[in-house]
This record gives sequence, C-alpha cells and structure tokens, in this order.
Amino acid sequence: MIRISQMKLAPGHSREDLYEKAAKLLHIKKEQITELTVCRQSIDARKKPDVRLIYVVDVSVSGISEQKCVQRCKGKDISIVTRKRYAFPEPGVRPMKHRPVIIGTGPAGLFCGYELAIHGYCPILLERGQAVEQRCKDVEAFWNGGALDPESNVSFGEGGAGTFSDGKLNTLIKDKDGRGREALSIFVKHGAQPEILYEAKPHIGTDILTGVVAAMRKTILSCGGEVRFGTRADGIRTENGRLTGIFLSDKTVLETEIAVLAIGHSARDTFEAFLEDGLYMEPKAFAVGLRVEHPQKLINLSQYGDASPKHLSAAPYKVTAKADDGRGVYSFCMCPGGYVVNASSEPGRTAVNGMSYSGRDGKNANSAIIVSVTPEDFGADDPLSGIAFQRRLEEAAWRAGQGAVPVQRYGSFSDRASSGHIPADFAPAIRGQWKEADTASVLPPELKKAFEDGMEQFGRMIAGFDDENAFVSGVESRTSSPVRISRDETLQANIRGVYPCGEGAGYAGGITSAAMDGMRVAETIAAAWAPFEMRNGD
Ligand SMILES: Cc1cc2nc3c(=O)[nH]c(=O)nc-3n(C[C@H](O)[C@H](O)[C@H](O)COP(=O)(O)OP(=O)(O)OC[C@H]3O[C@@H](n4cnc5c(N)ncnc54)[C@H](O)[C@@H]3O)c2cc1C
Repeated sequence: MIRISQMKLAPGHSREDLYEKAAKLLHIKKEQITELTVCRQSIDARKKPDVRLIYVVDVSVSGISEQKCVQRCKGKDISIVTRKRYAFPEPGVRPMKHRPVIIGTGPAGLFCGYELAIHGYCPILLERGQAVEQRCKDVEAFWNGGALDPESNVSFGEGGAGTFSDGKLNTLIKDKDGRGREALSIFVKHGAQPEILYEAKPHIGTDILTGVVAAMRKTILSCGGEVRFGTRADGIRTENGRLTGIFLSDKTVLETEIAVLAIGHSARDTFEAFLEDGLYMEPKAFAVGLRVEHPQKLINLSQYGDASPKHLSAAPYKVTAKADDGRGVYSFCMCPGGYVVNASSEPGRTAVNGMSYSGRDGKNANSAIIVSVTPEDFGADDPLSGIAFQRRLEEAAWRAGQGAVPVQRYGSFSDRASSGHIPADFAPAIRGQWKEADTASVLPPELKKAFEDGMEQFGRMIAGFDDENAFVSGVESRTSSPVRISRDETLQANIRGVYPCGEGAGYAGGITSAAMDGMRVAETIAAAWAPFEMRNGD
C-alpha cells in the first residue's frame, strides 16, 4: 500500500476528487488507482475562513510498482506502509468449569462479552438495568417529569453510560495492537456510520448508538452468549482468595471462577459491596464542575471563521487552563449541536452530562468545564471518599433545582458583563426538567473560583465564552471514576479470577478506551483458558 499523508481538499468535494488528487500527487493516471482507502480525515482551520480537509489515504496502484511510484514522488508525505491487523490470541488449554461472567454491559463489558462470545467462550453478561429498547422509554419518562428509576437511567442499562451521549469515539490511548480500529470496525459492522473509521474526531450520536448496542447483543446471543437484564451483582463469593461465585440481586448465586467487573463509575452500591467482600480498591483523582452552554454559531464562528459554514458539521472545541491556585481547569465531553442531559442515578441527587444526535444539529454547543480534585480534597483514608464527595455535590445540585437541573445565566453566576456575543434570548437546550436556580451554590468556594478563573481564560480563547448570557448547569460530577480497583499484570484483582475492567475500575476514560480495555481483558482470559464446552444445564 502507498500511504499519502497531508492530502488537502476543500470541504464539499466528491470521492472522484480524492482519486484525482491522489493520482496527481503520485504522478500517475487516475485509472491506475485500483483501491483508495481513507485512513484519516481532519479539519485544518488555521487560515480561517479558508478551511481545508486534510487526508491520510492508502492507495493500491496498477501498471507501476509501489517502490518505483514512491521513489518518483520524493518527499516524506508519500511512503509504503503495511497495515497492522488486530489479532485475537490463540486459545489457552485450561478447561473452564463454569461460563465466564461479565458484570455490566457498557462498552467495556459489551466488547469483552462480544470477543469472548465470538471465540466460543459462551459468556454470561449481567446487567442491572434494562435492555436498550426499554431503557430508552425509562429515560424519556424521567426526562418528561416521571420518577427516576435507580436501575434504568442514563448511567445504568444496556450500552452503559455512553448510550445517551454524543458518542465521541476519539481516544488518547495509543493503538499499537489495532484494538481501537477493531472496536470502530465492530461498531460499523453493527450499524454505525462507516466515516467513523477515518474521521479524526469520530462520533456516532445517541440515535444510532442505541441500535448498534442492540445489534451487538444479538451477535453475542447468536454465538452462545447470554445476557441477563434487571440482574445486579451484589457480592463476590470466594474460597482461599479465589472467586467461586457471584451473589445476584434475586438472592441466587451464579457459580463461576471468572468474573469481569465492568461496572462503570456510577455503581456506588456495588463498589461498597465488593469492598466489603475484600476487593482491594483505592481513591483516585478525578474532576468536577458544571456544564456550559453557548450558541453553536458562536463556536462555529470562532473555530471556522464562519457561523454557518457549508459542508462542515458543527464545530467542536477543547480548552484548558490553570486556575490561580494551580488546579487544572478544562473542557470535557464537548457536544457540538447537543443537549445537556439529566444523568442522575440516585434519588435526591442531581448529575448532568451531555449528548447529541448523529446530525449534531441542535442550536447549542455544550461542554463540561471541570476542575481537577485529588484525594487531598476529599480524604485519602477511605477508598470511597471520592464517592461521598460526589454525593455531597449532587445533593447540593438537587436542593438548588428542587429536583430539576439547576440552570443559571453566567452573568448572575459570576457578575460577568455582556460581551455582545450571545443574545439575551439565548435559551438552554436540556433533556430533562430544569429550573433557573442558584447553580453557584453547588460548588465549594475554592472550586467555584477555579471554575471562574478557567472561564475567564477561555473567554480570551473563544470570544463570548464567558458572556453573561451563557448558561451553566450542574453538577458535572461523573467525569471519571473516583476509585481504582487494582489489578496485576494478569489483569486480575487481589481476588483471583476477578478482572477489573473499564472506566469504573480506573482503566478507561471514554467509550473507545473502555471498549479497548474490554477487548484486552477478553484476550487475557482467552489466552489462559480453553473455549467453554456447553453441557446440558449450563
Ligand atoms: C451522558 C453521557 C455522555 C457521554 N458521552 C461520551 C462521549 O461522547 N464519548 C465518550 O468517549 N465517552 C462519553 N461518556 C463516557 C462513557 O460513556 C464512559 O466512559 C463509558 O461508558 C465507560 O464504559 P464502561 O463500560 O467502563 O462503564 P459504563 O458504560 O458505565 O457501563 C457499566 C455498566 O455496568 C452496569 N452495572 C453497574 N453495576 C452493576 C452490577 N452490580 N450488576 C450488573 N450490572 C452493573 C451498569 O448498569 C452499566 O450498564 C459519556 C457518559 C455519559 C453519562
């Protein structure tokens, strides 16, 4: 394959234009290109409003050898490459007495279950929440003013925390084993847009993601896996430091010697129960803050130099700063053309997050502006002290909004004057009940100050970011896990046979990295054990 990097085209071009440009750069005829695969597409807006798309493409040619073609081109942007393919390990030989169990069907559990199922390990997936079809109804009912279902909500249920999300799939994790690309290919195989395979900032959107999750479940079932919804793992049974079974919410015990803990970071009751059962865990740093909303046009103008650019989707942004007290302040989970969502999972506590649909065509842009906090802020002695801290913030948010999401103009939050960038009739876009309220009361004073320091600096990067008419809502408390469940080089916890996995255990920070960690755990289990032989009664 010949790889061409830095191939530039104007937005709105055709596929034919890609062939023409590649042929021109290779000094060959367009007809000599027998295959062209787009590996990556990014946006270069440095010379706005003259925005360009930058491509990395792999090309096969005929009528000339690849070596000769590349030699003729000179320059570092054209080279010969061999693509690394993802490889699942050869199976181990140790026989399993019972089927492996995966607790949680977020991206970590789902991808772990998928890999084990298609390779013959017949996993049993336990999910405390409901199948995605029922879960969507439960979440809509809550957003429309119904009661919160503590087991079926934005955090719990099939697909995990990211099901009602923007579905951003980019990750900072290096992909030397090809897991990241394989995860994206599995998404595409189950209904996601093929563009996610090459876009620099791929995203799926809630409307598509729900179908993808259901399709992956069907594949798992068709390969001999099993998924039990409405089934919570409540405890770990051990003998001589080894796992022997999982206590379930229906008061039965599921016999197993292998359990993957892919419980996400919101399963606070499960952390408590497993800690009591002897699982080693420790507190870890995370970040908290508030969601901030702006008109998407303001972000487009800042990023593209045009508030309504043709052929380009709603612009994202990423901003970071240091507060006066040295804390990091940064944007997180930015949702272009998206909505703020009530993502609570416990009665009497309010947490927010962000989502968008595949078209990212909402009027508002939102992101969490968060401030880093460490065990020094909330206590290092108790492994669950970060959870207690999150709960205090969420209770304050619930009180401020009296059960609805508390929302406030940034001008009244922080005495900011108008910069003239956001009109006074700008309105929030929120899924769930909301109420104008004293959001400023939700954060402790030192975190509120750090948040404001960050907002002021972001206002210098994106004009209007700290305008009085922007909105802040809260509280953004579930940015990453406040706990780490330790695991060794075999990926097992201090209780043998238990594999902490994904975001809740502290090994991932988003949909794709959680999926990759799930695949890694599946590979580790498969390399040690033989595929499961189904017997009557299993
Ligand atoms: C609204 C929202 C938007 C987001 N947007 C993005 C985004 O755009 N891009 C991105 O990369 N990340 C996003 N995230 C974060 C992302 O969703 C998580 O990083 C990811 O889902 C973590 O995957 P996981 O499998 O480790 O855990 P989770 O997805 O949290 O899954 C854990 C699963 O375990 C189940 N469970 C918990 N305890 C038990 C138990 N005791 N028994 C049985 N089942 C149990 C839960 O019900 C849940 O389904 C978003 C999160 C939210 C809430």
